[in-house]
Amino acid sequence: MTRGRAALLLAFGAVWTVAAWLLWRSSLPAYHLPYLDEHVLFPAHALQRAQHYSSVEDLFWLAKTITQLVVLGFFARYGVRWTRESAAGPIGTGMLLGMIGFALVWAAELPFAVLDVWWRHRYGLSGSYVQATVGNWFALGAQFVLLCVALAIVMGLARARGMGDRWWLPTAPVFVGLRILLAFVTPWLLGGSAFHAPYVAALERTEHVRVPVRVLSGFSEPNAFATGLGASRRVFLWKPIVEPPFAPRMDRFVLAHELGHLAHNHIWKSIGWYALFAFPLAFALAVATQRRGGMGVAAAVPLAILVYVVVQLVELPLQNVVTRHLEAEADWSALRATHDPAAGRQLFRLFASQTLEDPNPPGWDYVFLQNHPTLLQRIEMTRHYARDAP
Ligand SMILES: [Zn+2]
Repeated sequence: MTRGRAALLLAFGAVWTVAAWLLWRSSLPAYHLPYLDEHVLFPAHALQRAQHYSSVEDLFWLAKTITQLVVLGFFARYGVRWTRESAAGPIGTGMLLGMIGFALVWAAELPFAVLDVWWRHRYGLSGSYVQATVGNWFALGAQFVLLCVALAIVMGLARARGMGDRWWLPTAPVFVGLRILLAFVTPWLLGGSAFHAPYVAALERTEHVRVPVRVLSGFSEPNAFATGLGASRRVFLWKPIVEPPFAPRMDRFVLAHELGHLAHNHIWKSIGWYALFAFPLAFALAVATQRRGGMGVAAAVPLAILVYVVVQLVELPLQNVVTRHLEAEADWSALRATHDPAAGRQLFRLFASQTLEDPNPPGWDYVFLQNHPTLLQRIEMTRHYARDAP
């Protein structure tokens, strides 16, 4: 490594750390959660059911991830052979290889998607074989188009005159820009029907956020999310969460949580974190593909796809630390807005029985798969609020 490059990386590290520190700040109080025992909070049979269901789901995830890595490893090693036969130009050939890689990943995931539906049915949860395999063609198509656009941008920039191996520097901001555009536009594409409840206006006053609240049908799980930027900010509730056994008091807590995300600018903060993760990812791609002639060459695409998936996997635990932090702040915001820790507690207990999520999953599951605090941690927080908050 040259001295100039080392200095550049050092400067980047410093800026990264300061930015991460700024993004990490929150309204969460400094508190230490008491250790709660899930066996006290959940009936033994319900707990055992959720734990068994989740442990096998974990195994599916592990097997799927390993299969994907093996398949992409082979593709990175042998996929280069297909490049010579294509006359589509370097970027066209790169996109073609991207398409093959995408199809391989899809095929590798297919058996696990089928197994997952079978496992869900065994536990009385809903799930459709058609939806899990070929039914979701719209989402597949959207992912595919995004992949092609991403490859065209990366390869285009890497081939730009005078860019050399510094293409990763301007590439990350381009993707951050696309991410902002997507966050702005998506709420308008989702549709949904208006949600009315007597508590909405009061909650919006308390949290200083006034946005449309919409109900999305077509989902079988209880869930909700807040999204959008500026004029496109919205809260979406998946239909099962506004229906029994979820009571209005719990929905009020859910809505307060989602408004809390918007009140604390979590969409912008997520974009900030996305930017912080995008730079190392782009840099890793630049370094890894150097031996294949860089990202401007089609032959580098199969390797780039493998590196992308591996880096995402490595970044996953860190990304989960970030999202768990944001989710905890939204929970805290909901507690302060509703003053109803009992509703939160009931909501999280109901989640365990409705979604069969393990309230206190094993360590590696927590590190790799939990992007929310565990149900046990969320219940602990409601108890902390009930005891200590004014
Ligand atoms: Zn949330």
